[in-house]
Amino acid sequence: MSKQKQRREALVYHAKPQPGKIKIVPTKPYATQRDLALAYSPGVAEPCLEIEKDKDNAYKYTSKGNLVAVISNGTAVLGLGNIGPEASKPVMEGKGLLFKIFADIDGMDIEVDTEDVDEFVQTVKMIAPTFGGINLEDIKAPEAFEIERRLKEELDIPVMHDDQHGTAIISSAALLNALELAGKKMEDVKIVISGAGAAAVSCTKLYKAFGAKAENIVMLDSKGVIRKDAENLSKAKTEFATDRKIDTLAEAVENADVFIGLSIADIFTPAMLNSMAENPIVFAMANPNPEIDYDLAMNTRTDIIMATGRSDHPNQVNNVLGFPFIFRGALDVRATAINEEMKMAAVKALANLAKESVPEQVNIAYGETRLTFGRDYIIPKPFDQRLIHEIPPAVAKAAMESGVARKAIEDWDKYREELML
Ligand code: NAP
Ligand code: MG
Repeated sequence: MSKQKQRREALVYHAKPQPGKIKIVPTKPYATQRDLALAYSPGVAEPCLEIEKDKDNAYKYTSKGNLVAVISNGTAVLGLGNIGPEASKPVMEGKGLLFKIFADIDGMDIEVDTEDVDEFVQTVKMIAPTFGGINLEDIKAPEAFEIERRLKEELDIPVMHDDQHGTAIISSAALLNALELAGKKMEDVKIVISGAGAAAVSCTKLYKAFGAKAENIVMLDSKGVIRKDAENLSKAKTEFATDRKIDTLAEAVENADVFIGLSIADIFTPAMLNSMAENPIVFAMANPNPEIDYDLAMNTRTDIIMATGRSDHPNQVNNVLGFPFIFRGALDVRATAINEEMKMAAVKALANLAKESVPEQVNIAYGETRLTFGRDYIIPKPFDQRLIHEIPPAVAKAAMESGVARKAIEDWDKYREELML
């Protein structure tokens, strides 16, 4: 399809038959005078009074418990940069659509007109009573780190900045499986991370939680290898600085087992790929164009295990595999947070799911004949009905076991059944 045609199609999709991608619909009867007397005055006063007595009753009598705010200030939208709050709205509405179709969560988009950290945090705190959870979205680093840290500290509902943790969770699952296929161990592998931004930092933290060793990691930013002896390093970069006296990507990837790209297009060359160890794992996730073109990489090494951020190649690292199901699990036990244990549980559940035999509907949805665990299938596909069945229970269980659940699930079979409805 031509660029022009694609553009027109996207604009018509958003404009017709009514502007936008999401709307609010009532969930109670409203046909009679009696219905309205219950829905609004005088009947509505009763739940108000119950909630006044105990705030937790908001989960019983209002939609709070299934309502997630998708909040942005529009400072780092897709690869488009700082385009402002109004221009970020289609993306936030899109996230609402994904929350709904994959996990039946009502995602309400909120666009905030400030770049100031204090103002942003204050705004989110003040509107938080409305919601069961907060999904922070497309906020630029380093502000995003502080915003998330403070909101997690100060709110008692789950808060997650998806651009950081979504990618970390999905790529960790892909990495665990790629390592298994390559016959290597997280504890032993040499990992090179190109990029030191929001996504790269949170990915690397999670790989470490799964056993990657600090001394085996080299991270690069736009100036090259981040070295311990460099001056004026930010706190985030200091954590991943190396002792090795090297400067370039070419030096860093020699004999490395894993290349993680969360930077920019076309910086990883075939020569670099050829210098990597056997069964090289290459996750080139810069969007829309990866650090190395998929076909170029596949033609360079036959023993490669490759993933990208794109839907037109196998092994797409796509956040939609995570956030709907993670929030579903967190909301269902009324978790006060989304903690490391919950994220790691999601990773393991995703990794394991890719190893199960794939239902026929998934093959059909993707025009495949037989998806099976292997180099071209290391993570599940988004339109896999088993995700809603497997990921939320794993996350909910981890919330309960790590002490952040305010409600317990006792009958797991029943819970799984309800998730499928
Ligand atoms: P970000 O916070 O702006 O970070 C970008 C990082 O890339 C910065 O640390 C920057 O270095 C570094 N960089 C720029 N040029 C470089 C070069 N030539 N070599 C090495 N590093 C270089 O952005 P982000 O949110 O982390 O996203 C980074 C990339 O990952 C984007 O392309 C994004 O689309 C992609 N991404 C993909 C997925 C996915 O596939 N699911 C998810 C999230 C992000 P400085 O620190 O020196 O500026
Ligand atoms: Mg985003």
